[in-house]
Formats: sequence, C-alpha cells, structure tokens
Amino acid sequence: MRPVSSWGRLSSLPHDVFTLEPGGITLPATASDKKAIPFGNGRSYGDACLNAGGALWATSRLDHFLGFDASTGVLTCETGVLLRDIQSCLVGQGWMLPVTPGTQMATVGGAIANDVHGKNHHVFGTFGEHVLQIKLLRSDGTSIVCSPQRHSEYFAATVGGIGLTGMMTEATLQLRRVPSPWLETETVPYGDVQEFFDLSQESELSWEYSVSWIDCLAGKGGRGLFMRGNHTQRGAAAPPTARVRSFPLVPPVSLVNRLSLNIFNNAYFYANRLKRGRRVAHYQPFFYPLDNLQHWNRMYGPKGFYQYQSVVPLAQAVQVTKAMLDAIAISGQGSFLAVLKNFSKRNGVGMLSFPQEGTTLALDFPNKGASTEKLFNRLDAIVLEAGGRLYLGKDARMTRSMFEAGYPRANEFLNYRDPGISSDMARRLMGF
Ligand SMILES: Cc1cc2nc3c(=O)[nH]c(=O)nc-3n(C[C@H](O)[C@H](O)[C@H](O)COP(=O)(O)OP(=O)(O)OC[C@H]3O[C@@H](n4cnc5c(N)ncnc54)[C@H](O)[C@@H]3O)c2cc1C
Repeated sequence: MRPVSSWGRLSSLPHDVFTLEPGGITLPATASDKKAIPFGNGRSYGDACLNAGGALWATSRLDHFLGFDASTGVLTCETGVLLRDIQSCLVGQGWMLPVTPGTQMATVGGAIANDVHGKNHHVFGTFGEHVLQIKLLRSDGTSIVCSPQRHSEYFAATVGGIGLTGMMTEATLQLRRVPSPWLETETVPYGDVQEFFDLSQESELSWEYSVSWIDCLAGKGGRGLFMRGNHTQRGAAAPPTARVRSFPLVPPVSLVNRLSLNIFNNAYFYANRLKRGRRVAHYQPFFYPLDNLQHWNRMYGPKGFYQYQSVVPLAQAVQVTKAMLDAIAISGQGSFLAVLKNFSKRNGVGMLSFPQEGTTLALDFPNKGASTEKLFNRLDAIVLEAGGRLYLGKDARMTRSMFEAGYPRANEFLNYRDPGISSDMARRLMGF
C-alpha cells in the first residue's frame, strides 16, 4: 500500500498500486472486497482516479505506440502514452491531436475517460470524437473492442466514463494535419463579461482556438485577457528552448491568498495589456502554459486545492457568470488560475461527457475548509438553477443529487459499469 494523491492534493491515502505490464495485459487479481480503478497520470484534480484503501491499476508502463499511418494520421497506441509524446513525435511530421487539454501530461486513457476538451471546441469538439476504437479489458477477463460503430453503447459509456467501464488497454486515434508547430496568436484585453461574450462570438468565425483568463477578484465586471490562435506556417526554424522548472517544496500554508492574488492579478493584467496584439507562438506555451513549472500544485500548501469547473447554458450565461464572479469576489477566495470559455453545440460522444453548449468557468481555490465549502454551495445553487453541471475530471465534492441533475444519462451509464471497478468518485456519486 502506498499513498496516492490526485492533482488537487486534497488527500494522500494508501492504495494497493499494481503497475500493468505491456503485452498480453491481464488485470491483477485483487481481494474480492478490494475493487480497483485505472490510473493514468493523476492529472484529475479530484477523486475520479482515486480509490482509497482499494487498488489502482497504473498504466505508466503501457506507453508504446503500436502503429502510425503517416498518410492518414491514424495512430494506435497503448493507453498510458502521454499526450506530450504524441505531440512531440508527430507534430514534426505534420500531425497533431485534434483536441488537447491545458496539460500535455495526461495519458490517452485519462483523456478518453474524461472526454477532455481544449480551446477549439467549436471546431473539433471533444477528445472522444477522434477516437476510432478502444480495446476495453473487463475485470472478469473478457475483452470488448468498441467504436462508434461496434458495441457503440460500450463506446459511449467508456468515453467520459471516468474509468468505470473497464481498463482501456489500447486506443486508435485520428490525428489532424497541421502546417507547422506554430500558431498566429492574439491577446485582447477586455473590461467586462459582456465584452468576453462579444469577443467569443466574433472569434468563432475566424479563429480555431480561443480561451480567456479572467480576474476573479474583479466581481461582476470581470476584466480579463482574451487569447486566440490559428495554425500557421510561419515561425522560427527551431522551437523555443524553455527551461522546465519545478516548484521545490510544499509550503506550510497556501501561498495563494487575497493579498497575493490581488498583487498577481493586477500585475498579470497590466503586463499582458502591454503585450496586446498579434505574435507567432509555438504550440507548447500556447496550449500548455503551466507545464513548464512542474509541481506547481504544491503552492497551495498541505491542505491542497479544488478546481471548480462548471458549464451553464448560453442563454443565461452572461447573468450567471456575473453572479458567480460576484459570489467569488465577495468571498475573497479564488486564484489567478481562472479560465472562461464557450462550448459550441457539439455535445460530447460519451454518456457522461461534460461539455454542453454554453459557457464554462474554471477556477482554482485553496482548500480553506468550511468557508470554501460555503462558497461552493452558493456556486452550486447558481449552476443548478441555470441548468448547468460540474466537470467530473475536476470535481472532488459535489453531491449525488447535483450529479444526477447535471448528468441525465447517469442511470443508463450504470448498465455498462464493470462490477470489479470502483473509485472514491463512484462511491460518492453513484453509490458503488
Ligand atoms: C494543468 C491542467 C490543465 C488541465 N486542462 C484541462 C482542459 O483544458 N480540459 C480538460 O478537459 N481537462 C483538463 N485537465 C484535466 C485532465 O486533462 C484530465 O483530468 C485527464 O483525465 C487527466 O489524465 P490522466 O492521464 O492524468 O488521468 P487520471 O487523472 O489518472 O485519471 C482520470 C480518469 O481516467 C481514468 N483512466 C485513466 N486511464 C485509464 C485507462 N487506461 N482505462 C480506463 N480508464 C482510465 C481514471 O480511472 C480516472 O477516472 C487539466 C489538468 C491539469 C492538471
């Protein structure tokens, strides 16, 4: 048994960790009362990848490419392969993942199981839309090969299924062509939430990627920075040589507090306002700005942190976003990692996929116990009333009733769960 944490570092409880070996993968037997959960690279913020007191099936050694067709961009790989390895091997050949989250340190298995989204939802939807086939190993030893055409119900349950339908051992992905590793980007400062929506709408017509940083202390006003990008041929011959640094230790208390946040948010907003306008950027800093500071999650101290990510329908999004920002500003909590973006009409292919047409707001909060929970209860009420939901890949505390209200296909999903699998999240939200 050894302690395992997810990205939010909210707990560090013992798990029986079994590292799966490539080639003829079998699932190790666990004591009958000890169910297991697949584990990718632990980049989920909450408890989707945790199973305290039970077993983890770790995929870190399932990191092989099994086949790549350079004429069609079809890649088959084991599911422990990191998105970073796909990008760094294949971007030079003109192929890239069509959808990529804000970190490239997630595995293919983790990206499918949370049906992750990127900054180009209106163009490419979610990760699951580009999965051609999955090999799923069940705890009873049977294997199911599923795709949108074959055993499509298992496919829809597994994409976004937070590891609960079985162990994905292999996946076949359709990559997309890119002209180079470079992007033409633009940063546009904005002064309030309405301006964000105007910029978003305008950008959908001519920009593939868009995302915005929002100052969570600014309240209803919500000033921020809108970033957008398109692939381009132009760029330097060699990628920039960014030094990867590491946050060295866990400080005794969170370094993120109202004072540090105020100073950071002002400095970040005004520094970037000066850098407004267009420039050519390499895909890595544009897609994955945080990956150059390893272990940045330590800065929240020993109690860890939550990410609260919601999506609310577009029709009410302006009012709802303002109400949420107001509640956050009044509470004085939050962090500089605050992201606002729009999802298009393309619903995820999974029964439990998170994206729906609307606006998603994601904010990190240091864990301050009761006062943080009080703020979350207020935000939950706003999201629920608007008909929205929270992202399972980030969640560590929503109630079962909030889950059931937000995910109308939850009951249907239960037909495909693997009875030998459980997780902290499954017990909390689905009762098994
Ligand atoms: C800095 C940062 C930025 C992020 N930005 C985004 C973003 O923009 N968009 C977004 O959607 N997400 C984002 N995320 C969340 C992250 O992409 C997801 O949580 C992703 O699932 C993590 O992958 P992982 O390999 O670490 O999986 P883990 O966290 O280890 O596991 C996640 C889930 O996948 C399941 N799983 C893993 N491997 C398998 C397998 N082989 N078979 C079956 N189930 C499996 C686990 O059981 C678990 O339920 C971000 C995370 C970080 C830390």
